[in-house]
Amino acid sequence: MIYSASLPGQSPAPTLVDTMHRPIGSLRLSVTDRCNLRCRYCMPEADYLWLPRDSILTFEEAERLVRVFTSLGVTKVRLTGGEPLLRHDLPELVRLLAGNPAIGDLALTTNGLLLARHAEALRNAGLDRITVSLDTLHADRMLEFAGSARHADVLEGLAAVSAAGFRGLKLNCVVIRGYNDDELVDLIEFGRDHDAEVRFIEYMDVGGATQWSMDQVVSQREILSRLDARYGAITPVVEPGAPSAPAERFAFQDGSTFGIIASTTAPFCRSCDRSRLTADGTWFLCLYAAQGIDLREPLRSGASDEELAAIIRKHWAARTDRGAEERMLAPHRAALYQLGGLRADPHREMHTRGG
Ligand code: SAM
Repeated sequence: MIYSASLPGQSPAPTLVDTMHRPIGSLRLSVTDRCNLRCRYCMPEADYLWLPRDSILTFEEAERLVRVFTSLGVTKVRLTGGEPLLRHDLPELVRLLAGNPAIGDLALTTNGLLLARHAEALRNAGLDRITVSLDTLHADRMLEFAGSARHADVLEGLAAVSAAGFRGLKLNCVVIRGYNDDELVDLIEFGRDHDAEVRFIEYMDVGGATQWSMDQVVSQREILSRLDARYGAITPVVEPGAPSAPAERFAFQDGSTFGIIASTTAPFCRSCDRSRLTADGTWFLCLYAAQGIDLREPLRSGASDEELAAIIRKHWAARTDRGAEERMLAPHRAALYQLGGLRADPHREMHTRGG
């Protein structure tokens, strides 16, 4: 199925869509598989099988691949990881990507530990938006759950984001029963105080979440009912341009908003326009996909932009993935992988695919 967009100098073609007419709209670019946290729901082990150093794309290689993706219709790019700020000189990659006029939204997801140091340089390099993962307001809980005593650094990072002039700050919060599900209201209030929109994420059974079980998932329905009990009626926000997408954002009566990413109990595969490129150039068409497509090999063997575009076009046009919906139908749902399965292929890890 074909498509829009074009390589520089060519006239626009129609938009690239998959077998379910989903456009290729948004790319998550993981810049490293390393992380400086050990969140229990993502990367609980001390050590991992890391991607070989020489397999990691250079900034120039990543920028070129992104350019090919934008020639096919991608307009949103989010830098992620691992922890993207562990990648040396990340603002330089931002600067390269910001020079691509086809990217309408260039964003970063980070755990915030190193943000205070880098926020201003990221802004000056042309980054549009930042999302910070903040699961708890309690330093002792972060220590217990993510193995880090640096909660204060995250708060300092948040202050640096607004000082640097970023707007549209989002706070990602994975809600886990018995860990932080008593903080829903506190997190909403914290978001209001910091001019940030909170997005509650249902705990997902993705690679890396080896301790996942359904009873720890706090569903969208439960989150809404708890917030409703505190704040009164909550209404879904209809997103302009995406009327058929399931509501991800909600509004309180005072007009302030929050989000819920309900990939576990109410997946949105039908409108999913996202794909993921790992730090070593493996392209995943779904967070749950068993396998990715190696773009590094053709890139390094001298493929032209048009040849790279042809590979991407072929795979996206044949895309049938709806991994989260299929997981929902799995009988006796449990963690997707155990440690041995993850060690067999590091690409199965969430921190490699990029959240
Ligand atoms: N290190 C960065 C960060 O902390 O935001 C970016 C990478 S992290 C893998 C991206 C997002 O994935 C984070 O918001 C994290 O909370 C989320 N995540 C990781 N494992 C998850 C899981 N099992 N269920 C739901 N969200 C998860």
